Amino acid sequence: MTQTSTILAASQGAAWRLSRGEEVSIVNTHGSQVVDTWALAAEDPSEHSAMEHTRSKNSTIFLDEGLAVMSSKRRPMLTLVADTTPGRHDTLLCPCSAEIYAELGQPAGHRSCTGNFHEAIGALGLSLGFTPASLNLFMQVPLESDGRVRREPPASRPGDSVRLRAEMDLILVLSACPQDVTPINGAECRPRDVELLFHGVPA
Ligand SMILES: [Zn+2]
Repeated sequence: MTQTSTILAASQGAAWRLSRGEEVSIVNTHGSQVVDTWALAAEDPSEHSAMEHTRSKNSTIFLDEGLAVMSSKRRPMLTLVADTTPGRHDTLLCPCSAEIYAELGQPAGHRSCTGNFHEAIGALGLSLGFTPASLNLFMQVPLESDGRVRREPPASRPGDSVRLRAEMDLILVLSACPQDVTPINGAECRPRDVELLFHGVPA
């Protein structure tokens, strides 16, 4: 099995074409970086990862080991095959966007996961007229019994990783979240690089 490594730079996004069976590890090098994650079906990129179908199929609001991200056509896209983190991964909250940074008083042009998504698929010659909800890897959003959610820094530690397997030919889109106003990427409010290991398709 071939294996290649690359760095997803802090606050940046990127997209890759994965074949069915291919796996990728996302290593949280510094421990507290949230990674917004999407998938688009290769044969029809309008079929996208859909958190509402993911929660419905799995009967949980978190993505835990062994569970799959489902598509807008309710097909499995990415299975979380391994996870060294102590926490769960958020499916509830939207990717950060220009509008959110405006709410936070930031100047126009602040990078966002939404912007990273469209920039990354654009680099592959694709476009989508909306932004699908993201799977927010490493993001810690506990649910209270009264339905309120809290936003806490990731519980992951440096070197923790998750491993995803493509269940169809797809386009994987990742954004190393640029959020530097709230502590969702850690108490230092400092976006960080993450490392990606692509494992290829087993022979
Ligand atoms: Zn973000």
